[in-house]
Amino acid sequence: MASTFKIVPSSGNLSAERFKVYTQRNLHKLPHISSLSKQQQFEIQVVANVLPFRVNQYVAENLIDWGRVPDDPMFRLVFPQREMLEENDYGIMSGALKKRKSKPELEKQARIIRAKLNPNPADQMELNLAELDGKTLEGVQHKYPETVLFFPARGQVCHSYCTFCFRWPQFVGDRALRFASTSPSTLTRYLIQQPQVSDVLITGGDPMVMQTHHLNDCIQPLLSPELEHIQTIRIGTKSLSFWPHRYVNDVDALDLLALLEKCVRAGKHVAIMAHYNHWRELETPIAQEAIRRVRQTGAVIRAQGPLLRKINDDPRVWSRLWEEQARLGIIPYYMFVERDTGAQAYFEVPLARSWEIYRDAIQRVSGLGRTARGPSMSTSPGKIEIQGITEIQGEKVFVLRFIQGRNPDWVQRPFFAQYDAEATWLNQLKPAFGKKEFFFEKEFNKLAQRPIRKS
Ligand SMILES: *Cc1c(COP(=O)(O)O)cnc(C)c1O
Repeated sequence: MASTFKIVPSSGNLSAERFKVYTQRNLHKLPHISSLSKQQQFEIQVVANVLPFRVNQYVAENLIDWGRVPDDPMFRLVFPQREMLEENDYGIMSGALKKRKSKPELEKQARIIRAKLNPNPADQMELNLAELDGKTLEGVQHKYPETVLFFPARGQVCHSYCTFCFRWPQFVGDRALRFASTSPSTLTRYLIQQPQVSDVLITGGDPMVMQTHHLNDCIQPLLSPELEHIQTIRIGTKSLSFWPHRYVNDVDALDLLALLEKCVRAGKHVAIMAHYNHWRELETPIAQEAIRRVRQTGAVIRAQGPLLRKINDDPRVWSRLWEEQARLGIIPYYMFVERDTGAQAYFEVPLARSWEIYRDAIQRVSGLGRTARGPSMSTSPGKIEIQGITEIQGEKVFVLRFIQGRNPDWVQRPFFAQYDAEATWLNQLKPAFGKKEFFFEKEFNKLAQRPIRKS
């Protein structure tokens, strides 16, 4: 594809770098590794045998403040910490490493530990199936009528891994849990039969790890006349933060921008669903240049990310993030609650506290920063937002609503749960006012053939 995209020049030093990645295997070569004690390096190795670990030199050199390690939020975002495993599991894994157990034996231990970390939250595999000609489409999820998620096979890694990622199992080689992918042409055939679908969300991993011509193979079919009902092409990515060179210096950076522009010219709404956790990710000149270029294509950047203990559990971090996003022309979209999987115990923030942080942060920003909804739990029945905490007839309650529901009729109906200062997820909440179940529960249980919460 010949790139036709013309860049309005910018000032500043945006020199090219070749992508270099560090994992558990070459961690010792990381230029900053001497900032970590031998014990810290060993702890990273132990946890990285269970949970995914991958960091690239841009993140290591530009986003992490090595003078503040291990408390630095960007360090915690990508480097495994001992406390991310339960003490007992940590002990088993570190013992196995010290005894220099064989690779298959380490892998066997790792699999046992991973199985305890709820590797498949919100029933993504069983409940969001898309079917064509009586066959399940691998790598396609269709949970809400208007939106289809597509996981292209080549986009199932990231430029760096986040320690809290809810899609962690697919990165540790657990084949059974990986989303194998349908071809773009099969996806097209499916979409032709689904006229109610308006949005296709290309996600991963990170689709922006793909070479532009591969991404084009996924996107081009969506521009065909038979798919006029697809109004929006969304791309979920952390690349604006973890590898902004993708839009500036990579050999096919201009082709990528041209591809986004082509979709806009074809009449589609193109939304880059950018994952951000901290304002620090927006600070580098190259990150800002990447944002500027994407916006020049006519694509819209919307920002989302989870609230994480020890990384961004502070209203001032969020208000600064949203202000900075608004200034750079990014639209704040969702604040998520950390999902019930992986190292959740390390990152979780009580729902009550999450709501306080959200509210405090929203109060600090102008209306343009208040487009972020949340805190929102991506649960099996749908996206459930904590709207507030209040007292009704003497009972302290959470006010909740569905932002998205497996049944669209559930959306925007306020409902109530007993206040619980410690609860961190829907399965720990109980209906308020002495009710036995939430209004959607009977219908959901029938659909899922299992209860939504512990009785
Ligand atoms: C969030 C989400 C969507 C998109 O929902 P919007 O509210 O339209 O952004 C689609 N599918 C799944 C599974 C989701 O979690």
